[in-house]
Amino acid sequence: MYDTIVIGAGFAGATIARELAERGGEKVLLLEARGHIGGNAYDRLDGAGVMIHQYGPHIFHTGSKRVYDYLSRFTGWRDYQHRVLARYTPEGGLMPVPFNLTSLRTAFGEEKGAELEGKLIGKYGAETKVSILKLREDEDPEIRQLADYVYEHVFVHYTVKQWGTPPEEIDPATIARVPVFLSRDDRYFQDPYQGIPEKGYTALFEKMLSHPGIEVVLNCPAENRVAFQEDGTVTLDGEPFDGKVVYTGAVDELFGLKFGRLPYRTLDFQFETWEQEYFQPCATVNYTVSEDYTRITEFKYFLGQKLPRTTTVKEYSRAYTGAEGEIPYYAIINPENNALYEKYRALAGKYQGLYLLGRLAEYKYYNMDAITLRALELADRLIGG
Ligand code: FAD
Ligand code: UDP
Repeated sequence: MYDTIVIGAGFAGATIARELAERGGEKVLLLEARGHIGGNAYDRLDGAGVMIHQYGPHIFHTGSKRVYDYLSRFTGWRDYQHRVLARYTPEGGLMPVPFNLTSLRTAFGEEKGAELEGKLIGKYGAETKVSILKLREDEDPEIRQLADYVYEHVFVHYTVKQWGTPPEEIDPATIARVPVFLSRDDRYFQDPYQGIPEKGYTALFEKMLSHPGIEVVLNCPAENRVAFQEDGTVTLDGEPFDGKVVYTGAVDELFGLKFGRLPYRTLDFQFETWEQEYFQPCATVNYTVSEDYTRITEFKYFLGQKLPRTTTVKEYSRAYTGAEGEIPYYAIINPENNALYEKYRALAGKYQGLYLLGRLAEYKYYNMDAITLRALELADRLIGG
């Protein structure tokens, strides 16, 4: 009856389901454990009328025209350029992050700032991005001193809160997501396509999944209907299933934690509504030297909502334990964990027609656009470009 079972209705699952149904003419069964579509990008209006992102702030940005054009079929966009301030002193001093030439003046004053700017640009070039870890190894002691300042005021405490370990001990690619930027451009991202779906992410997903070839079942952990047998076969509702299965959840859970748990970080979110028009000067403020939470995001900036009240969220990061209701948000990428992941991936390879797709299933730090592209490319492979 079904050609493909897709497990999970986030960007990975929704995109592949739509492609297989529309481009491949397939009948797709989409099983989602939660009571809603959208995965971690799910948003909704709260009691105050603010469009909140239930699983943390999501800003769409991409360099891929293919991804942008594809998603634009299902939504219009509100032009939104994300800006973040770091609260870099306990007293409340604010400066742009990524640390840039404006942050340099804020931290060091006009004169010293100008001198350091000259040195940095002389060495690395204007409008370039340099990882803080690389900058700390510069041969010039003055640049090293500056790098140590940025490390102390922007990176070390925030990273310890987010990952439980200092920057040197996490994947260098993660720290490089937020470089030192030798520019006055104070946007968080420089991608050519940026925005927020004008009616929200959930509305985008509703459109994407509205196709006669797709049947969506919510509140349905795949285990309730699909079983992966030891002999390499798959069953749906107890009957052999010979079609494709695209799995977008955590791969260790797919196989009953057979080789042990894959480590993740989870988050606790604290939402608050304030009887004031605005809470802070921009959508996100990172608390880089104080507090237990990493950042506060004020949602109404995303869609430019005009309301007398406002809603914010604080994010607290901690180790994922697998307890009921906890969600694994961030893979902890390091050689040991990657090796464990590879064992699961090899096991998945024994099931013909099983595809692992998505941030959890691939154990990677993927943004929404990267996941969408992976899903489009998997569709190219499965049904021919
Ligand atoms: P998910 O969104 O996690 O979807 C997987 C779905 O599968 C979930 O709905 C889950 O319930 C379901 N599922 C899992 N297991 C099962 C099962 N056994 N049976 C049935 N269903 C199952 N990206 C950006 O581009 N910009 C941002 O600003 C941004 N901000 C982020 C902020 C936070 C706090 C986090 C955590 C992530 C952020 N991301 C951002 C990343 C973004 O969330 C991911 O790229 C995207 O959600 C990945 O989509 P996915 O489909 O792979 O996974
Ligand atoms: N980071 C930091 N200070 C900041 C912003 C980021 O130390 O003010 C580090 C931190 O380790 C974080 C990583 O850079 O986990 C990536 O930041 P990003 O904002 O991309 O994280 P995300 O939005 O995905 O949680």
